[in-house]
Amino acid sequence: MARLGMVIDLKRCIGCNACTVACKQENGTPAGVHFARVITREVGTYPQTRRTFLPVLCNHCEDAPCAQACPSGATHIRADGIVMVDKDVCIGCRACAVACPYMNRHYIERGLLEHGYSGDGVSPMEAVKFTEFEEGTMTKCTLCAPRVDQGLEPACVVTCPTEARIFGDLEQQDGRLRRLIRERNGWTLLPEAETKPSVYYLDE
Ligand code: SF4
Ligand code: SF4
Repeated sequence: MARLGMVIDLKRCIGCNACTVACKQENGTPAGVHFARVITREVGTYPQTRRTFLPVLCNHCEDAPCAQACPSGATHIRADGIVMVDKDVCIGCRACAVACPYMNRHYIERGLLEHGYSGDGVSPMEAVKFTEFEEGTMTKCTLCAPRVDQGLEPACVVTCPTEARIFGDLEQQDGRLRRLIRERNGWTLLPEAETKPSVYYLDE
């Protein structure tokens, strides 16, 4: 069986946030909810400074603490490794948010779906997209599961102008992801948390 994941090449990332916007558009997430984000840091000492960029999303961990903490069974891991949350089963206890060491769980506050992103009513697109969310429950990145199920790549991957994001199957030892991880010493966030993330990074 496949284990879907992603490699993010930090050498290629220019911090444009196209992935952030593509995710927002694809998922229609409410105001303040961002499944894909880019963490920007300034390093060095003036005048020898530069900015570094770290795109982050749910790591779709193989040993996902969010799933282990969920008392209702709402959080579950698909056979292809995608970590999902069922809004119709979620009781909104937020145990998953506490358990996730990467802060990749997002709670839909009461009243949040009454307002669009602009704060000026709900747009026709949001009216459709907001049916995927439930106030008082948890939501998260699905690795664009609806797209993946149609044979498409996640929106953040196809939108990235520098092709810094590579999507594929980590189970294929001779596949592009495993080859890149091997050849460029790919690493994951917080390995000490022992979550076995499915998102790997390649150094600048
Ligand atoms: S990154 Fe957080 S939300 Fe995503 S699978 Fe891992 S523990 Fe769960
Ligand atoms: S908030 Fe929902 S998904 Fe998270 S642990 Fe509670 S029941 Fe499970």
